Amino acid sequence: MSVMLQIDGLAKRFGGVKAVDSCSFEVEEGTITALIGPNGSGKTTAFNMITGYLKADEGRLDFRGETVSRPRPAPLYRRGLSRTFQQARIFPELTVEENLVVARGGSWTTMFQRRVSRKDHERAMRMLEEFGLSDLAGLRAADLSYGQRKLLEFASVLMSEPKLVLLDEPTAGVNPVMIDTMERHIRERHAAGTTFLIVEHDMQFVMRLCDPVIVLDRGAPIAMGTPSEIQSDPKVLEAYLGS
Ligand code: ADP
Repeated sequence: MSVMLQIDGLAKRFGGVKAVDSCSFEVEEGTITALIGPNGSGKTTAFNMITGYLKADEGRLDFRGETVSRPRPAPLYRRGLSRTFQQARIFPELTVEENLVVARGGSWTTMFQRRVSRKDHERAMRMLEEFGLSDLAGLRAADLSYGQRKLLEFASVLMSEPKLVLLDEPTAGVNPVMIDTMERHIRERHAAGTTFLIVEHDMQFVMRLCDPVIVLDRGAPIAMGTPSEIQSDPKVLEAYLGS
């Protein structure tokens, strides 16, 4: 298995707070890797640096065998790295279908002149079908339920056919049925060859879906292993109890 993403010595300080410090880990191609840790352990900050939404103070990032000297969201997206956010970022005033077309790179001009190519339309409809959202294609995204928006955001990031998808708390605030739906879609995409890195608080979800699991504490990994290794690691227990 080859390394999809390698993080080396990543660091970020906010004033006197070391949010991420000497943080190194890798994500192997073909895995569903989890990044967990107590509140404030640096997961979001690390995610934001990896995806180019926040500039790192120090550290190196290699993606698909190449060093990314200045990570920025759009070039990374074009190279095959996409992400979701804790609060789903979708375009509320566009329809469900239009959200997918825009995610694919359809320009805004095209969108507003309502000149969606047939190919883009078909691709979007296939994705909606895969996600069971076909009936909602013409609905404004603003009118979707919270869980449906998260699902739409997930479907949108898949439109670029990414190699690596970073999911930021995919189950947060989502009902149990929707959690199962989310899990099923992650599994399906994983089986089709997509690699995942997931920040998630729902430990049951993590333990049944992810392998390996990386545990952050105070900005750096303290453990990495299979779910059962992580669950029986005294360092991990201590980090959670001490938080
Ligand atoms: P997690 O996602 O694991 O909960 P975060 O990455 O959000 O952790 O936060 C790590 C640390 O950095 C925390 O102490 C947090 O208060 C601090 N932090 C995060 N973002 C900022 C910011 N924009 N300004 C100041 N401190 C921040």
